[in-house]
Parts: sequence; structure tokens; C-alpha cells
Amino acid sequence: MTLHSMNNDPSAIVEADRAHVWHHLIQHKPFETVDPRIIVEGRGLRVWDIKGKEHLDAVSGAVWTVNVGYGRKRIADAVAAQLTKMCFFAGASGTIPGAQFAEALIDKMPGMSRVYYANSGSEANEKAFKMVRQIAHKHHGGKKHKILYRERDYHGTTIANLSAGGQAERNAHYGPFVPGFVAVPHCLEYRAQDGWSGEAYGERAANAIEEVILREGPDTVGALCLEPITAGGGIITPPRGYWERVQEICAKYDILLHIDEVVCGLGRTGAWFGYQQYGVKPDIVTMAKGVASGYAAISCCVTTEKVFSMFKDDSDHLGYFRDISTFGGCTAGPTAAIENMAIIEEENLLENSTRVGAYLKDSLNALMDRHPVIGDVRGLGLFAGAELVTDRDTKDPVNEKQVGAIVADCMAQGVIIGATNRSVPGFNNTLLFAPALIATRDDIDQICNAVSGAITRVLG
Ligand code: PMP
Repeated sequence: MTLHSMNNDPSAIVEADRAHVWHHLIQHKPFETVDPRIIVEGRGLRVWDIKGKEHLDAVSGAVWTVNVGYGRKRIADAVAAQLTKMCFFAGASGTIPGAQFAEALIDKMPGMSRVYYANSGSEANEKAFKMVRQIAHKHHGGKKHKILYRERDYHGTTIANLSAGGQAERNAHYGPFVPGFVAVPHCLEYRAQDGWSGEAYGERAANAIEEVILREGPDTVGALCLEPITAGGGIITPPRGYWERVQEICAKYDILLHIDEVVCGLGRTGAWFGYQQYGVKPDIVTMAKGVASGYAAISCCVTTEKVFSMFKDDSDHLGYFRDISTFGGCTAGPTAAIENMAIIEEENLLENSTRVGAYLKDSLNALMDRHPVIGDVRGLGLFAGAELVTDRDTKDPVNEKQVGAIVADCMAQGVIIGATNRSVPGFNNTLLFAPALIATRDDIDQICNAVSGAITRVLG
């Protein structure tokens, strides 16, 4: 059989998938009796599976990526033209789309200066960790090498990223981990102990970071790596006062602030970047998913000129960043990213994310009146979470099977939603919503009606 004579019959494709594809994130035993789901087409917010069923995708490609929605011919055409002309060149050389997208991106990030290309969120974060380590060796005699990460945050799937990962449930079977990564407490106000709330809690949560720095020794800590809003760990929006203190603490101890914008970047929260919502001034920013909305693989590790210039001194063998990303040289990524950014601008999608995102949050809050099981609603822009509890006073979490059943019920209704990683008590119980930034109020109504029906059916 040649590739072009392959059987296109849907049942043959399902069988090929069942026989040979190892799907992400799922136990495969059920596939012995249930067909794997195969998505074949998408337009706007909607996708169709191989059986012809239509779904409203409320999570932008399962993992909050397709910010501008499906079926953007303009991006595909630009990528096709660029690949025909010049598909790939890596190493020390640049490319035209690489230069153009870097300039456009920096224009949206006042204070930042340099774009380092890679392919996935994990890889961009790994680059940032390596930069911090090299700075420690070059400028601090190897001392300032520790990287602080926050409980519940996630930075990627590699062993170094898991070492910086605050979701214990993802790490359980993959140790031993890389030394030099140290956890700081999360900032989930809803579950704050001893009645702390508001700005006082925000400052307290940030002060807890300072306590870790003092315990470890400030001269050993090189960077603090945080998501602007904790995404998969529970849609944890930082409390007021938090970021101001974090910024002060980093300045006080000469610690680089690395913001992981892999989820929040490119409009998800209603600003170009999540950190801009809080007036933060980072030293390093990593991004991936929304950079090209999944039309091509691209990630960026963006730094200030100050960080970049720390690699300029050529007096020793550490005179440049000794790193490469082979596919950082593929021109499909920056070409798609240029069109993606133009679409966000021309269609005012930041504004839509803010406006329709507020409607999403209001609608989820309205569901709280009908469903006592919704204990808390959090989020910003078109990025929201609804935490489910058995009792609003005790805040005991709804069990993971029930959360899974709610997600499955929505799926049966033709609405794809998400939920936080199952299996950690207290954190396995948040429904997630991140539709494409083109979402309308009607789409939000359809999503919330499906969720309401699912909660009633599963929990009564
Ligand atoms: N950072 C965050 C905040 C993420 O949510 C993710 C992926 N969900 C990553 C990094 C890793 O990105 P990737 O899967 O592209 O490696």
C-alpha cells in the first residue's frame, strides 16, 4: 500500500487509530470496546468528529490553544506560501518571518527585547531554566542557581519541567527529579486558611515566597517562575496585592521573574499577556499555545535586553547561550504567528475576550444560584473555572468520578469542556472553560446550558 492509496473509509481510520495510536492523557483499555474519538474538521468554535457529530469546543482544541478559532484559510495560505519559498533553516541564521514576528511581538511587550524560538511550551520553559542556570554560572559563581516554582502551577512535561511542577498528581511516577527547584505555596484565596481574604491574603501569599527565599538563602535563588493565572492547576486568579509584593520581593533579592504565558498569552485573558493585567514587569516570558493558535508548532522565550546582555560578554566559554532548537528554524511557526496576531488585532479579539469573558463569568455565577454544588467561580477574559464542592461551608470537593461524569455528559450534549487534573483531593474538582476568542454570548449560553443540565443529571 502506498500512502496515497490508504483507505479513507472512516471505520478503517478508526481501526488504524485503535491499533497504532497512543493517545495522550488517557487509559486505553476502554478503546477495546469504545471507539477512539477522531476530530476531522473545524470551523470557528465548532468541530466535527469522524462520525459526523458536531461539537461546540469550549476549550479551544482540548488544551486552550486555538485562540482565533478553526478554519482560518488566511493562516494556512500564508504558511503554504512561506514553506514553498523557504521552509527551514536553523542554527545561527535567521529567517524573514522569524525577524518580522519577533519585531511584532516585542511591540506588544513594552520592556521586553529578545525572542528565542522553540516549539512547545515545555521547551520554551526549559530554555528559560537554562538561561537562569547559565547566568548563575557566568555571573554568580554558580550560586544563584535555584528556581522557585509555585504549588499548583504547571510548566510542562519534561523531567526538568516536572521538577518545576506544582501538581503532585502529574509527578507521581516520574522521579527522581532535577535538583535546584524549590516550591512556594499557591495563592488560592477560596481555600485560604484562618479566614484570610482579599488584599491581606494576597500579600500574605506573596510573603510566603519571601519566607522560602530567606530559608533557602537569597544568594542561591536565581529565578521565580509563575503562571500569571494558574491554569490546569485550578484556574487560580491571583488575589489583589499579590503581584505587587511578588515584584518587590524579586527586586529586593535580585531574583529574575519568569512568567509562563503558555496558556494566558495572546489574548486569552483579554490582554495580549496575562501579566499585563497585573502591571507586572517580568525579566523572562515564555509562551506557546496561542502564539499560532495551533496552526503551526511554535513557542517563544522572550527576555529583556538586560537578560540578553548577560550573554554578550565573550571573555570566557560562556559567552553565548549554548542552546539550540532544531525546529525553532521552521518558518511555519512565525509565519502562522504573524497572521494569528493580525487576526487578533483586526477582529478586536482582546476586546471580545474581555467582554464575552465577563459574560461567561456572570453566567457561571448565575449558575451558582441554581446549583449549590458550584462553590467558586474564577477567571479572567475567556478563561474561567467553576469549582465544585459537596458543601459550601466545608468546601469538600466533589469526587473525581462525578466531575468526569459532568464532562462526559456535556460531551454527549455536543459541548466539549475541561476539568482540572483528577486525583488530588481539593483540586480535582474544577470545570474549565477557554473557548476561542471569537466566542459570542450565544455560544456561552449553549455552554452554560449544557453544564447546568449535566450537573442536574449527575448530581441531582
Ligand atoms: N506551561 C503551561 C502553563 C501549560 O499549561 C503547559 C501545557 N498545558 C505548558 C507550559 C507546556 O506546554 P507544552 O504542552 O506545549 O509543552
